Amino acid sequence: MYNRVQAHLKKELTDIKEAGLYKDERIITTPQGAEIEVENGGKVLNFCANNYLGLSNDSELVKAAKEALDSHGYGLSSVRFICGTQDIHKELEAKIAEFFGTEDSILYAACFDANGGAFEPLLGKEDAIISDALNHASIIDGVRLCKAQRYRYKNSDMEDLEEQLKKAQAQRFRLIVTDGVFSMDGNVAPMDKIYALAEKYDAMVMVDECHSAGVVGETGRGVTELFDLRGKIEIITGTLGKAFGGAIGGFTTGKKEIIDMLRQRSRPYLFSNSIPPMVAAAGIKMFDMMSETNDLQDRLHENTIYFTEKMEKAGFDIKPTKSAITAVMLYDAKLSQEMAAKLLDEGIYVIGFYFPVVPKGEARIRVQISAAHTREHLDKCIAAFTKVGKEMGVIK
Ligand SMILES: *Cc1c(COP(=O)(O)O)cnc(C)c1O
Repeated sequence: MYNRVQAHLKKELTDIKEAGLYKDERIITTPQGAEIEVENGGKVLNFCANNYLGLSNDSELVKAAKEALDSHGYGLSSVRFICGTQDIHKELEAKIAEFFGTEDSILYAACFDANGGAFEPLLGKEDAIISDALNHASIIDGVRLCKAQRYRYKNSDMEDLEEQLKKAQAQRFRLIVTDGVFSMDGNVAPMDKIYALAEKYDAMVMVDECHSAGVVGETGRGVTELFDLRGKIEIITGTLGKAFGGAIGGFTTGKKEIIDMLRQRSRPYLFSNSIPPMVAAAGIKMFDMMSETNDLQDRLHENTIYFTEKMEKAGFDIKPTKSAITAVMLYDAKLSQEMAAKLLDEGIYVIGFYFPVVPKGEARIRVQISAAHTREHLDKCIAAFTKVGKEMGVIK
């Protein structure tokens, strides 16, 4: 049997390569950070990690993780409800709820699991899910696992959302679901308008804060802070794998009864392992640091404004953003790949994206800003973009 499967897979893999869509991994030989070393590339400045607050190798978090290894051990060898819950898991869940101004929280192994296990326990075939067309793959998969009727609206298009809500009026319950920040454009979901439509058409709201938590809002509390909606959104999901230290782990936080039901019925919670104690302990430390000072958020916001202003001045076409994701628009797929390669030669690590990851004709280089970037890092990046951009005729 495997002979035929092998031939089939080989052909598919060749097709992927020929379409230029084959994914390779670049090997990093240092901890994650603003400055890293990559195999065959030497030292580079990193502008493509989700390390928005620069916490991935933060000394305080490393220390908290090491201490927890000694006090709580390496692993739990259990799902949460059998014997996989320690005091620190409960403490972290409480910190998450406090941070977002919600009633309760539940931890998952990843946000992919939080989203995968959010819908099926709460909604049935008599209900409706109204989902943004550009929502993360894990939301799409979670919706697929649920029997609710599905409605899709164009990315952040409020007219279309209203249209879909009208169509969904026959159903028992309605849930609108959106990413807080969309990862390719860095655009922030218009939560004020989404919330107003939810009120008008009697719906609940779920927001995935993976790219917005720690980043958006004056104190990094995410889109509910930015739009003054703290405590009003029924369901928030997020990750500990991006701004919040970058290790692993996801969560759902929101209304008490919803979280309680997820503990009873959410399959990735019931049938998958607990996060390691060191991750829980470092997570607690991270939320404590967030509530003590706003330095990292302030620096991230300053860096983002500095970078986008300078890049626009240099003549680049930048998508407007309130997040730490900056899309440098090039529109041409080949150009996006060649320019990213030349930038790497200049010691700037960025990734070019093109169809099908972004719409046809909208190829770009995505630059992710971090609080860990110094002015010097940003200036080097801007200078490299300007040099390569002129060489390639992108700017004058
Ligand atoms: C990264 C991401 C996820 C997945 O988070 P993990 O914790 O890495 O599984 C889910 N949703 C969105 C919007 C993301 O950006």
